[in-house]
Amino acid sequence: MAYDPDNIFAKILRGEANAHVVLDEEHCLGFMDLMPQSPGHTLIIPREPVENIFDLSAEGLAVLIATTQRVARAVKTAFRPAGVMILQLNGADAGQTVFHIHFHVIPRYPGEGLTLHARSVADAEELREHAARIRAALQVVPQ
Ligand code: 5GP
Repeated sequence: MAYDPDNIFAKILRGEANAHVVLDEEHCLGFMDLMPQSPGHTLIIPREPVENIFDLSAEGLAVLIATTQRVARAVKTAFRPAGVMILQLNGADAGQTVFHIHFHVIPRYPGEGLTLHARSVADAEELREHAARIRAALQVVPQ
């Protein structure tokens, strides 16, 4: 399937759709998931228009995963979860719903099950506050 330049993450990259951004760099953008599976659920995407892991260059993937690690450290600092799940889906049959490659950083908390994938939109004020916490943590976590 050809890359669809009108997917929602492409629109966020072009500034045509809003997101609660935590990281804005030359190669990657990080922002809060609109329908978080747990508080602090963050997404990291490359600026490159690529649908999935198979189409991304090794160099692009290296930058993306290193950036994901930094964001995951910041999420860990900001939310102090018991664990952090890193998730990346390829193809509708694997559960991918937005066809611009992304890594999920999903904090896990004791006794708290994950909410269903991409089901309910979070409160905008809460997402704004969570993004601010992660941005602050990114200033102090090791690069
Ligand atoms: P996938 O299922 O493709 O791995 O994950 C796509 C993710 O994008 C889902 O977790 C979903 O909640 C999130 N998502 C869908 N639409 C939007 C949107 O408009 N803005 C943001 N920030 N996240 C979105």
